[in-house]
Amino acid sequence: MLGGTSFTLFHVRGIRIAVDWSWFVILFLLIISMSNVYGDVLGESSAGTAAFGLAILSAFGFFGSILLHELGHAFAAIRRGVGIASIQLWMLGGVARMNRETDSPGAEFEVAVAGPLVTLAIVAVLYLVGGIASGFGEFGHIFRLALEFKTDAGVSAFVSMIAWLATINGIILVFNLLPAFPMDGGRIARALLWWRSGDRNRATQTAAKLGRGFGYLFIAGGLALVAAGSFFTGAWLALVGVVVNSAARGAAMQSAVTSRIGEVRVADVMDREPVAIPGDLSVEQALDEYFLRYRWPWFPVVDTAYRFLGLLQRDRADEVPEVSRASSHVSEIVEADSSVFVRDDTPLDALVANQSLRRFGALMAVDAEGRLSGVITLEQVGRALRDATQRA
Ligand SMILES: [Zn+2]
Repeated sequence: MLGGTSFTLFHVRGIRIAVDWSWFVILFLLIISMSNVYGDVLGESSAGTAAFGLAILSAFGFFGSILLHELGHAFAAIRRGVGIASIQLWMLGGVARMNRETDSPGAEFEVAVAGPLVTLAIVAVLYLVGGIASGFGEFGHIFRLALEFKTDAGVSAFVSMIAWLATINGIILVFNLLPAFPMDGGRIARALLWWRSGDRNRATQTAAKLGRGFGYLFIAGGLALVAAGSFFTGAWLALVGVVVNSAARGAAMQSAVTSRIGEVRVADVMDREPVAIPGDLSVEQALDEYFLRYRWPWFPVVDTAYRFLGLLQRDRADEVPEVSRASSHVSEIVEADSSVFVRDDTPLDALVANQSLRRFGALMAVDAEGRLSGVITLEQVGRALRDATQRA
């Protein structure tokens, strides 16, 4: 979404923290609108140094809270063995980019709930600080006013900043907990559905429907706000709706593809009955009857029970001195390399990242007894993936 250039701000324990251009726009708008608010509080013009300074503090406090929220997700993911590529902040908030999906409903739940828990802790700390600074009854009142970007005369600028940060984090908390997948509440919902049914794809499809519905709701609500005169809030909400809707649709499609390809196994797409060299053949016969006849660079080698012994490369056979070719057997020079074969009941999606398949272009398939049952090529895997994508 809106990809574009991102700028690295800094790293937190090896996690890259980046922002894009839209973040600078929001930062700018926030500082402008907050310096107006603090200008009123302090009774000075919005261009006053104190008002401007507080506005900058608030804006960074706001982005600091979002960053802490995302770090909550990130550390929960890392604890569950899922790597984090980066945390990106942009105009709609933050995203902790995970290297892969979580592999259990429990892990999914923990990662999803960790961000809102951090935000809850931030609200609690701010409430405590504001309450101690101005009295808890009074702070509750200021807190409610901050919802409307207002404040009472005589309230200290520091307290109104704390109130504003507490309020905005409270809104973030509630908003994120809506079951609008892929927002946090939606991911929590998916984790619960997944836990109950044991079917990740079905859980994702249901959560995604909910997410798309909320997306439309946000768009409608945003447009209503724009019509009522709240241009920025309305436009922001509508944009969130568009992003949530399309992200939910994308996640549903991806999940469908992954689950379809997961049902396809090596045996479903491989070539059966591949040409194989019997291990008890002499190297001379192998060269004459196989390499010179088929002109392939390699052949699988099998024993008398058709068990896979390894691959024989043409070069390896050529290396055998001519005088001993008739007396040496293929089984003596075959390379037993466990990375060149897979069980034929392996799900195809497990091969997508297989390095041997990429390097070699093919893998041998064996059955449960270790007998050679087929050859699967990179091209066949690619075609099966494309088919699954089209069916989704
Ligand atoms: Zn979150």
